[in-house]
Amino acid sequence: MTDTAPSILLIYTGGTIGMIENPETGALESFNFDHLLKFVPELKRFNYHINTYSFDPPIDSSDMEPYHWARLVRIVERNYGQYDGFVILHGTDTMAYTASAMSFMLENLSKPVILTGSQLPMGMLRTDGKENLITAIELAAAKNADGSAAVPEVCIYFEKDLMRGNRTTKINAEKFNAFKSFNYPCLGHSAIDIQIKPERIRRPDPLRPLKAHYLFDTNVVVLTLFPGIQESIITSVFRLQGLKAVVMKTFGSGNAPQKPWLIRLIKEATARGVVVVNITQCQSGSVEMERYETGRQLLEAGVISGYDSTPECALTKLMFLLGHDLPPEEVRRLMATNLAGEITIDA
Ligand code: ASP
Repeated sequence: MTDTAPSILLIYTGGTIGMIENPETGALESFNFDHLLKFVPELKRFNYHINTYSFDPPIDSSDMEPYHWARLVRIVERNYGQYDGFVILHGTDTMAYTASAMSFMLENLSKPVILTGSQLPMGMLRTDGKENLITAIELAAAKNADGSAAVPEVCIYFEKDLMRGNRTTKINAEKFNAFKSFNYPCLGHSAIDIQIKPERIRRPDPLRPLKAHYLFDTNVVVLTLFPGIQESIITSVFRLQGLKAVVMKTFGSGNAPQKPWLIRLIKEATARGVVVVNITQCQSGSVEMERYETGRQLLEAGVISGYDSTPECALTKLMFLLGHDLPPEEVRRLMATNLAGEITIDA
C-alpha cells in the first residue's frame, strides 16, 4: 500500500448487515463489528487504508434518533481531514431518514459519505451485504482527474444503484433492491465497471469549508390524509401542544378533501406559526397546488409546497430548520429552497 492510497473510515452503526440469528428466539440480533469484518476478508485486498469505528452496542435502525445522526456527523467532522471518504453501515429501515438528515447537517460537503447495509446478514451465504459494502468503499474512494472526490454527497448505495441520500426511500422489505430514488436519477450504477454520472452530482463551493450542524427540533408530525378522515383527528393533530410543523401527505398533485373544517383548522394552525408542508402520497411526481381547486384551497390556507420531496426528507428538513430556531416565515422560505439537492423547483 502506498501513502497516496485512499483512506476510508468505515463506521458501523448496526442493522441486518451485522446481525445473527438468536438460536432460541429465531430473531436477528446485532453482533460485534470484528465478527462482521471476519466475513469480508476481501477488504484486505483493497489497496486502501481502511479504519473502522463501531457503535457499541450496534443498534437496529428503528432505534435511530437525531442524537445518533449528530454522533455520525461528529465522527465525520472530527475525521474529515484524515480521510478521503466515509462509509456508514446502517440498518435499512431508517437509512433514508439518516441520509436525508446528514445531507443538511453536512453543509458544503466535499467528501463522499456513503450509507449502505443489507437485506441478508453478512454471515449468510447469499448475503447482499458484501457487494454493497465493497462497492460503497470503492465509491467513497473514487476521485476525479483533478483529485477531487467523484461523489461529494451523502448517498445511499444499494443493490447496484448509487442514489442521492435525501432522494431515497425504502421500498422493499424483502427484495434486494430495497431503495429507490423516484424523483431524481441515480448518481451512478455498478456493473462490470462502476459508472458515476458527474452531471448529476452536486459540487461543493471550493472556497467554503465543511460546516457541520447538530441541532434538531422534533416537534413535528406526519399526517396522512385518507377518504373519511374525521374532524376530531385533524383537530387533535393541529392542536397538539408544542407542535411546530406538519408534513401533510395529500392525494395526487397535492389535493385534500374540500371540508370547511379542514381548511379552518389549517388556517388557524398556520396563523399560530405552525408550518404545514404539502407532499404527495404518490411515490413519484411533485405537488402542484395550483392545479385543482382541492389543492388551491390549501395554498390559500397557508400550506406550503414540499415539491417532489420524499416524506423522510421533508420531515428531517423541517426538524433541522426548526432546530435552528428560525421563525416560521424563514422555515417556510427555506422549505422552498433547494439546500442539498433534495427538491426540484421548476423555474
Ligand atoms: N431492522 C433492520 C434495521 O433497520 C433492518 C435492516 O437492516 O435491513 O436495522
